[in-house]
Amino acid sequence: MARIIRMMPLSGGDRKHYARELARTERLHADLEARMLAAYEVAHRLACEEWNARRFLGGEVDPSPTIGAAISAGFTLLEVKCPACRHVERVPLPDLVWSRERPIHSLADVLFCRRCRVDSGATRRPTLICLVAPGTGSEPPKTRARRQGGRGSS
Ligand SMILES: [Zn+2]
Repeated sequence: MARIIRMMPLSGGDRKHYARELARTERLHADLEARMLAAYEVAHRLACEEWNARRFLGGEVDPSPTIGAAISAGFTLLEVKCPACRHVERVPLPDLVWSRERPIHSLADVLFCRRCRVDSGATRRPTLICLVAPGTGSEPPKTRARRQGGRGSS
């Protein structure tokens, strides 16, 4: 953004007042900018957590946070599951060649299961499960893994 150049008043009193106001506004702007960025960070994290909770409850994928918002909130992995072969994979969002302004759910139309493609040549679209922030313990609860052989076998 181009800066607006304001001409400094020439007289002494006006000049000092103008310089004080300029310095005060610069400090105010820096403070507002820092608070705005902090608020965006909180908002992006909440949007990702809300989307995770909605997905866990079986809700719709749309609306979803943007890819850029998810990355900036630290949710850099998208967990997907193929409904056909039940293969689960975590897609690293920063590695995707896809607009950061587009929502997470737009990936459902372009991702496909590599395992199904290799095995049968079919293009199967995965189900979007959740966003994962590595190393924060933010992962939603999973269904308990079944024990091998079930009860009574030893
Ligand atoms: Zn598959």
